[in-house]
Amino acid sequence: MNAEGITDPSPSAAFLRDAAQRGDFRALKERRTRIVATIGPASSGPETLKAMAAAGLDVARVSFSHGSIDEAIARIRAIREAIPGIAILADLPGPKVRATPFGEHGAALEENQELDLAIAALAPASDATCIGVELEQGFSELEVGDRIIFGDGGVVLTVLNPGNDRIRVKVTTSGTLHGKPGVTVPSKSMSLSAPTPEDLERVKALVAEEVEAIAISFVRFPEDVVKVREACGHLPCQLMAKIETQEAIDNLEEIVKVSDAVMVARGDLGVRMPIEEIPSLQKRIIRAGIRYAKPVVTATQMLESMIHATTPTRAEVTDVANAVFDGTSAVMLSAETAIGENPALVVETMARVLHRAEQDFPYLEWGASLGVQQVSGDRASALRITAAISGAAWRAAIEEGAAAIIACSASGTTVRSICRFRPAIPIVAVTANDYRARQLRTSWGVSKVLIDSSENERQLADTAMSYLRSEGKVRVGDVVVVLAGSRHTSSPVTDTVRLIRVE
Ligand code: PEP
Repeated sequence: MNAEGITDPSPSAAFLRDAAQRGDFRALKERRTRIVATIGPASSGPETLKAMAAAGLDVARVSFSHGSIDEAIARIRAIREAIPGIAILADLPGPKVRATPFGEHGAALEENQELDLAIAALAPASDATCIGVELEQGFSELEVGDRIIFGDGGVVLTVLNPGNDRIRVKVTTSGTLHGKPGVTVPSKSMSLSAPTPEDLERVKALVAEEVEAIAISFVRFPEDVVKVREACGHLPCQLMAKIETQEAIDNLEEIVKVSDAVMVARGDLGVRMPIEEIPSLQKRIIRAGIRYAKPVVTATQMLESMIHATTPTRAEVTDVANAVFDGTSAVMLSAETAIGENPALVVETMARVLHRAEQDFPYLEWGASLGVQQVSGDRASALRITAAISGAAWRAAIEEGAAAIIACSASGTTVRSICRFRPAIPIVAVTANDYRARQLRTSWGVSKVLIDSSENERQLADTAMSYLRSEGKVRVGDVVVVLAGSRHTSSPVTDTVRLIRVE
């Protein structure tokens, strides 16, 4: 209280110090940052999938960039069978241009070496003398000196002799190409309109599979996300906008508003924007997600060296830890688990690095530094109430030194609202069905999701209390904070925070 007897609404430094003394924030038992891993040829077998799950996999990503829709759907079914309860993130490729496949050992390209680029019809397979490119309109818009980038920038070619179906190029950044690498050509030669008609066809198949989340590549405008939402029809699939274009950066706030989650897609972002912008953009995108209580996934080259190596580089582990300090909800593994030599070891290493970084996360300062949660959409007035009551729950949990937070949430929105505060204590979610429960696997910090479709808020809280007691996560005398809906309103809204002392 200040001299006028008014309680200061923002936690003061002294208040934070007191709270820190009450809780042992350095001894967090559970990892809070989620792990998304791409499932590919190296990780599709049931034994590998089970080993990855045991190592800490939270969300399995299936990319639609390689192979047919049927192959990707078969992969989704195999994942579900091997690790029931996992969440699937299906990644729509959008208008990504790829090279035709390289042979088993790839092709090493030397600096200053000359070679051809040809349309895919003329070069259905690629090698060190000619690379096929799936660019239907050909190369007529390319000019002498234009740069063509492969993968995430590992190999760069420069145009020597332009042409339509076949052009001559020189290697200006050497490297080895494998599989079907992405090809970035100057944007004038490439229509980046997403989602493509093929993406929308894929969405139909994904809705039939009831995937929990869909990532949309090359989003530029909020309408791109809305188109995918319309294609999802009745399925409340989580739509994750991949932020990887200049336009997506320009329209970031509007895109976050209409999405359910966002991805810092550093691979494509790093070839479309000056690479030195990436660290700052990562922070900006994460902060935008936090403002709207939307999960943010930080992706690409996080433990890249572990495609072959058994330990990551110092720079990689520092990058992963810094993503935690930036406030990311999840981190993503791509080639490391899709084509790497030991996918389970990569997940296990990632889990260890995350957990260690979390010991040093500034939990109290983070929560205290947040502004008011932004809300948007048809339910904005109800969401404003949920956001306000979640903030009250976080503050109450700190003032009382609570042992856990229970969030009763049919759609998961309330859980995401409280997660944005990054409370250091366990968060137990109670939700209505398995699908919603699996969707919470992208959210930071949820220790456990319980399923209970009861309408009665006391019943939901009792379910969670029994779990906390049986797991030894609370003791007699502890205080638990419960967030729930009072059901006094016609549309669902979380409007109640209760503090219960464990008896
Ligand atoms: C990225 O570009 O960082 C990314 C995640 O997308 P993709 O792996 O589909 O290229």
